[in-house]
Amino acid sequence: MNLNGKVAVVTGSSKGIGAAIALAYAKAGAEVAINYNRDKAGAEEIVRKIQAMGHKAKAYQADVSNPDQVKEFIDAVMNDFGKIDILVNNAGITRDTLLVRMKEEDWDRVMDVNLKSMFLCTKAVAKAMIKQRSGKIINITSVVGLIGNPGQANYTAAKAGVIGFTKTVAKELGPRGIQVNAIAPGFIISQMTESLPEKVKEKMLSSIPLGRFGKPEDVADLALFLASDKSDYITGQVFNVDGGMVM
Ligand code: NAD
Repeated sequence: MNLNGKVAVVTGSSKGIGAAIALAYAKAGAEVAINYNRDKAGAEEIVRKIQAMGHKAKAYQADVSNPDQVKEFIDAVMNDFGKIDILVNNAGITRDTLLVRMKEEDWDRVMDVNLKSMFLCTKAVAKAMIKQRSGKIINITSVVGLIGNPGQANYTAAKAGVIGFTKTVAKELGPRGIQVNAIAPGFIISQMTESLPEKVKEKMLSSIPLGRFGKPEDVADLALFLASDKSDYITGQVFNVDGGMVM
């Protein structure tokens, strides 16, 4: 699969799944706009790795839940790269606690970073993609958006919302030559999952038929396929990458 000549924007790509996707795209020949909120050092490291492969990359600080920052970010990418062929809405956070203890600000922040960001970033790139009559949009949801998870009322609601958003945008933009799909990772080793108690991890592992946690690269492989022209007849779908955890 090659992405030669393509320009990709990956939100939250300073580490974890987003960084693995950005590196996979660059390896396939794409130029990549890296985005981060606070992790400047991580973002710059990914930029260096991509440049070492001989491809263009640049890091952009922007909180993807903030409308002004998203506009500035996407305008800057258009200015620097000239076009956007691929958008991966990956940035996400958790603020886990049981519903009865959940603060309104925990609800709002998780909804804003995980769901509102999709609306803001997708809307910001849609005009350019419609004009060029092509584009690939890949939204990162989660298997818990399908099945629920105690302690994650905010996160699971946002991730379920991502699925509805993906299907609607796929229907709206399909006639314009743009494919929109979602990836639902299961348990992927990253900073987000590192902090979970050992007991929770053990229980999760026992529910994975393939017998191991996922790696960010497992998600990146599918994201590469969905960004390439090999997936041109696929849109509005949700693909689990979870070792068989949810089926
Ligand atoms: P991570 O914490 O390692 O990385 C998150 C990235 O998002 C970082 O680059 C961070 O800088 C960025 N980010 C956070 N808030 C931001 C904001 N407001 N604006 C811009 N960037 C912001 O997490 P990860 O595990 O790599 O998760 C990536 C995506 O995959 C998330 O959407 C997450 O919900 C989803 N996911 C992860 C797992 C898992 O097991 N790790 C499972 C299912 C879904």
